[in-house]
Amino acid sequence: MKALLLYPRFPETFWSFRHALPFLGKRSSYPPLGLLTVSALLPSAWERRLVDLNVEDLREKDLAWADVAFLSAMLVQAPSLSELIARCGAAGVRTVVGGPITSAEHAAWRDADHVVVGEAEEIVKILSHDLAAGQAKRFYASPCRTDMTRVPPPDLHLSRMRRYSSMPVQYSRGCPFACEFCDIIELFGQVPRTKTAKQVLAEFDRLYDLGWRGSVFMVDDNFVGNRRAIKGLLPQLAEWMARRRNPFSLFTQASINLAGDEELLSLMRASRFNRVFVGIETPVEESHRAAGKTQNANTDLLGSVRRLQEHGMEVMGGFILGFDQDPPDIFKRQIAFIKEAAIPISMVGLLTALPNTRLWRRLAGEGRIVRQSIGDNTAALLNFIPKMDAETLLAGYREVVSTLYNPKEYFERARVFLSRLGPSTRERRSFSDYLALIRSFIRQGIFSEYRRSYWRFLGNTFLRARRHLGLAVTLAIMGHHFFILARNTESKRPG
Ligand code: SF4
Repeated sequence: MKALLLYPRFPETFWSFRHALPFLGKRSSYPPLGLLTVSALLPSAWERRLVDLNVEDLREKDLAWADVAFLSAMLVQAPSLSELIARCGAAGVRTVVGGPITSAEHAAWRDADHVVVGEAEEIVKILSHDLAAGQAKRFYASPCRTDMTRVPPPDLHLSRMRRYSSMPVQYSRGCPFACEFCDIIELFGQVPRTKTAKQVLAEFDRLYDLGWRGSVFMVDDNFVGNRRAIKGLLPQLAEWMARRRNPFSLFTQASINLAGDEELLSLMRASRFNRVFVGIETPVEESHRAAGKTQNANTDLLGSVRRLQEHGMEVMGGFILGFDQDPPDIFKRQIAFIKEAAIPISMVGLLTALPNTRLWRRLAGEGRIVRQSIGDNTAALLNFIPKMDAETLLAGYREVVSTLYNPKEYFERARVFLSRLGPSTRERRSFSDYLALIRSFIRQGIFSEYRRSYWRFLGNTFLRARRHLGLAVTLAIMGHHFFILARNTESKRPG
């Protein structure tokens, strides 16, 4: 059998980094880990080919080659997913769809031949057998949560690695917390399941042997969900890195309680983690309590962010507007918090009720759901009736985004952040980094409208924090993406 692994295109979102990646000569952030793991589970005799629409086009000859197409998607990829299913159907290629989008009824996969619900590991063997026998059913549901110690390394060699800015590695699934709006715990449960250190190191070995150098994204939704396990892994990771003279720099996602664990912070530093995404959500204590985000309630959030920064870690923050408890001055408070915390990359989004979450169930019970979520909480679009007047909320949201991503404001935040940043791990520079530098000088330093703020920021870094100059250029490039997106958010109106 010939299996075509098809990954739908992402629209332009804050997360796509579409306006920053071209500086690095890259097209997407990282290859589709889920699909490449499915690939590794297929019978060894099957041929496989990956087409990621985010880095390449799907050609007619790919479709003519394939017997079956495996597609995986998140909600935000729905439009591209339904187009791909239609193209496969027209070419006579059977389609199997999985990923988070199948966890609830969605029009985008209605025309797929076969649908996989839940984690794929327990299903692929049976499904591939049924496909080969021409007896595949319409639905396959995972009978249980996957034992992570049996997950094989993904077939990353199928991806065009040079077109991505990072490579993904997964250590765990699941998160012990219970945030009302989160779909991770619905999909993967509240008991983090982990791979063994041996598995993770084997994946690092494989990346290294494939010639990868640079950024690696530990894709876990909460890397520190099982702190005991992670403390067992990290010394081995640090040792692996040191032995190979630090070929990778690592970033991940973690809950804010990471900041209170000195031992864990030191271990992460030793393992070359230099960036972490943290869901901070709001400076309003009552919202944390109501949303069940207990780890953020009763916590000195500003102090926690600062501690992470002082440990050499760049904090990227997730923020939400639209909680029922939001006071009228929430917009000013979010802006003030983000400024004070000096978080250059702040993903501010509107609360969205994702399918199958506690939030969805509560709002549905209150008759407040108005449409399915499109899975992009940074689009100025609500899928529920907020407590605050909707127009006021949307206008406030646009105001927050345009203020934060006013280039002057952004560079000032980045400047303060760099002044606080502890000795960060030195990133290995590659040829594409130098190309990015030249592109940035030309595009941002000569032709952009914000070139004065740009040069002031770089000049200041050169004089006061020269060791962070490389990071300063990276932040400037990432800022460019947000400046464009913020302008576009201005023009997006509620539908
Ligand atoms: S900490 Fe993050 S992953 Fe865990 S439940 Fe909350 S939002 Fe979900």
